[in-house]
Amino acid sequence: MFFGIEDFDVKNKRVLVRVDFNVPVNDNGLVIDDSRIKEALPTIEYLVKKKAVIILMSHLGRPDGKVVDKLRLNKVAERLSELLRKEVKKVDDCVGDSVVKAVNNLKPGEIILLENLRFHSEEEKDDEDFAKKLSSFADFFVNDAFGACHRAHASVHAITEFLPSCAGFLLEKELTNLTPLLEAPKRPFVVVLGGVKVSDKIGVITKFVESADKVLVGGAMSNTFLKAKGINVGLSKVEGSQLDFAKKFVDNKKVVLPVDCVIADRFEEDASSDVVDIKDIEDDWLALDIGPETIKNFKAVIKDAKTVFWNGPMGVFEWKKFSSGTSEIAKAIAKSKAVKVGGGGETVEALNKFKLAKKMTHVSTGGGASLEFLEGKKLPAVTALESSYEKFKNNIKNVTTIK
Ligand code: ADP
Ligand code: MG
Repeated sequence: MFFGIEDFDVKNKRVLVRVDFNVPVNDNGLVIDDSRIKEALPTIEYLVKKKAVIILMSHLGRPDGKVVDKLRLNKVAERLSELLRKEVKKVDDCVGDSVVKAVNNLKPGEIILLENLRFHSEEEKDDEDFAKKLSSFADFFVNDAFGACHRAHASVHAITEFLPSCAGFLLEKELTNLTPLLEAPKRPFVVVLGGVKVSDKIGVITKFVESADKVLVGGAMSNTFLKAKGINVGLSKVEGSQLDFAKKFVDNKKVVLPVDCVIADRFEEDASSDVVDIKDIEDDWLALDIGPETIKNFKAVIKDAKTVFWNGPMGVFEWKKFSSGTSEIAKAIAKSKAVKVGGGGETVEALNKFKLAKKMTHVSTGGGASLEFLEGKKLPAVTALESSYEKFKNNIKNVTTIK
């Protein structure tokens, strides 16, 4: 049990909102994909309407505790301001005197974005003093950063000790859409897994082989499974350390592996390519996409599904020659009448690229967070909201009001 944003009387109060503005940016810091900013709008617009003072904070990339100019949030503030059609102030740090001053000057309905939290190493250390400094700006804390909830970091975890804390609309939406997949998916429940790192996804694979009816494996991930089966995959990407793990699943009837693939003579966009049976990959070639027979097999399974969860591209979809596996499977999922949920950085990128995101029941803003949640793990930041609820449930009115 935790607070929702509507439980707090936020009028004329300072509200600190942790958003997930960890968006893809180019070398000039320009925002390439603003989906995560757009997803945060309902919470921000609600707080504007309620006349709260809105203090936003986020991380961006991995500056590892140092100031990295390319990872400043200035362009993010500009994009947010365009989307809201409203001024968004920006400060060059997230704690300290300059921030205190800027925050104190804000009037109800105004918005400020603090600087990248990860410029301070204390953020990732879940440092209590750092969290306390952040909390000193506000009366309430709102967590709307689902993508960061699998981390026990100061701005989502330690901070909930110091302020009455609640979930924002995006966090609520994520949990509402993902929970049925964990607890009671409509069956047949089909999981489509791809992408690169088996090691990152071990937990979720193990879980889905138990809970789903079929697990379709494509992408570089399938190479490791095929190799574990004794198939020669040539120079294809394989995670050698995961072969023993993969062996446990290759004969499981729920697991469906590729039967053919698109191979390339080198890992390049303009490489020579060919379609071959999975048993015919030559030594110096590599598989960069699933083949047409595999697409057909996967589509047949997806067609009958009542729930589909998709994480990980089927091939190197960034390159046209190797994108049909991902685009065809994405289309099949988007077209299906099932409850269909997608999650993962590149998976969402692919859904946007093929203009299918709107056809999905839910597109998760959290890659790692959605996987850990579906693995059945408690997300540390959500547990923190529960503790905060217990701590503050009897005195949430006991906060200072701005004059
Ligand atoms: P997500 O972020 O959606 O969880 P991952 O990060 O695990 O997905 O993997 C995404 C990447 O996997 C993509 O950039 C894609 O190019 C790559 N990929 C998919 N299939 C292959 C393959 N057969 N060989 C090499 N890379 C692949
Ligand atoms: Mg990724």
